[in-house]
Amino acid sequence: MFDSLTSKLDSIFNKLKKAPSLNKGQVETGLKEIREALLAADVALPVVKKFIEDIKPKAIGQEIIQSTSPGQMLVKIVYDELVKILGEKSEEINLKAVPPASILLVGLQGSGKTTTSVKLAKNVEKKYKKKILLVSLDIYRPAAQEQLKVLCEKNSLNSLPIIKDELPLDIAKRAKNAAGLSGSDIIIFDTAGRTQIDLNMMNEIKNIKTEVKPVETILVADSLTGQIAVNLATEFDKAVELTSIILTRVDGDGRGGAALSMRQTTGKPIKFLGVGEKIDDLETFHPDRLANRILGMGDVVSLVEKASQDLDEEKIKAAEENLKKGAFTFNDYLMQLRQMKKMGGMDGVLSLLPGVSKAKEQMKNANIDEKLLSANEAIILSMTKKERENPEIISGSRRKRISLGSGTEAQAINRLLKQFKMMSKMMKKMSKGKMPKGQLPDELLNNLK
Ligand code: GDP
Ligand code: MG
Repeated sequence: MFDSLTSKLDSIFNKLKKAPSLNKGQVETGLKEIREALLAADVALPVVKKFIEDIKPKAIGQEIIQSTSPGQMLVKIVYDELVKILGEKSEEINLKAVPPASILLVGLQGSGKTTTSVKLAKNVEKKYKKKILLVSLDIYRPAAQEQLKVLCEKNSLNSLPIIKDELPLDIAKRAKNAAGLSGSDIIIFDTAGRTQIDLNMMNEIKNIKTEVKPVETILVADSLTGQIAVNLATEFDKAVELTSIILTRVDGDGRGGAALSMRQTTGKPIKFLGVGEKIDDLETFHPDRLANRILGMGDVVSLVEKASQDLDEEKIKAAEENLKKGAFTFNDYLMQLRQMKKMGGMDGVLSLLPGVSKAKEQMKNANIDEKLLSANEAIILSMTKKERENPEIISGSRRKRISLGSGTEAQAINRLLKQFKMMSKMMKKMSKGKMPKGQLPDELLNNLK
């Protein structure tokens, strides 16, 4: 989503970083270019204006002009401002209510409400260990209620049984009773959208809201629609008072303007990002991590979190530390492989790694064989715990055993070991900031083929 903005900012900063010192004129030119890059990314004009106004005094202050690494300082100033416009800190979903707590998802047709309600349910169920009931109030679109039911069944979630021709308010009332009887902690209501804002829809949502008294009224908005999504949020907020926002299709090739303008324009926090069609493709929104990603500094923390959704907190912390230190083991690698498969390939993982906007393209062009991922997984699974942590001990006889266990040729094992060595070297370099930005060594690419 932020590819184009990232590469533009990257080239602006690269120019400035090369200069041993900066004068006022150079900084002002840099600011102008940043302004243009933000506008081109479809960030709302008032937000861009404020952004530049806020960083200007810092950027042309004595500190930066007299500094020995002025470009680097400017990056830091822009980073801080990005975090600020994105909302400073991440905000958790509000569940503070006498159970059952109701969550209402609203938005236009096709924005991703139904998909998001299921993703959100799974996320909340896992994180807070709560019992959840899902309810579709969409009686207009044919088979909309069945869509939710099927998604719930597929993902072992409870949904309210459908009664034909029942009206939304009656469904809502029945849901509250059912949640009471089944001891559900949370009810997630998926509502009907329209192709555009209309009075009937708003009135219906108002009535539903009065009935279910939600702790969260969340707008689900398609980030690909850019400024339209931001205007939509303003309209919805006026009519039904939103508490937060979920942006979907952040995995798409939109320009990122919606994500960047939403908080400042509406004052409402973005709580999650939809990053794909699968159930796990919902990320908690973290302003600092997104700012990192936009500046091409990668998002190691999200990567590790994603890769280890089923691990406990301590393990996540340990893996995170390993990555940062560059102490990379086969266990970390296994976690990545699995995540790569889950996320449908290298692309997803790479976009989260530090400084890889260019590497991503290289990978794409290099035609990495995804079948190799499965073979590599089998090999790692055939290693003992010790071997995974200290690959140096993998001798000839150990190789033979691993080869038998994984049903692969010795050659494949040698290749994986070599590849692993390169990966961990690369991680070390990246974590120390020594990697030439976004470059992957050719040997590594060839080895992945
Ligand atoms: P609704 O009409 O608002 O209920 O929208 P749906 O939940 O039915 O979603 C419409 C389409 O968008 C479906 O094909 C979803 O799989 C897809 N979709 C939803 N969220 C995302 C997302 O974050 N990324 C991508 N790529 N597709 C999404
Ligand atoms: Mg729907």
